[in-house]
Amino acid sequence: MFLEIIVKPAVRKIAMERMQILIENAITNAKINPELSQRQAFLARRISSRHKIRMPYDLRMVFCKKCKSFIAPGINSRIRLGRASVKSIRISCYLCGHIYRKIIPQ
Ligand SMILES: [Zn+2]
Repeated sequence: MFLEIIVKPAVRKIAMERMQILIENAITNAKINPELSQRQAFLARRISSRHKIRMPYDLRMVFCKKCKSFIAPGINSRIRLGRASVKSIRISCYLCGHIYRKIIPQ
């Protein structure tokens, strides 16, 4: 019990950092090495489910909400800024065509 209290937050922190690094690398590699980038994205997802850590929004937005694929911004997804008075971004997945919107808090 005692050990769990000390160890758990550290493990979670490391897992979170790994996920962030993997997603960053996946985005960087999406153009030059799509296979490697898919693998890195898959590993990040596996860390998230294994450690039951919810990915922060900026990491989750590189995964399509519908087909769950890794979609690199500007490569297999398109990010558009909304023109309405409410600031929003539209992310469309090139793989399944799903479009989702995200309102940016002011
Ligand atoms: Zn999709």
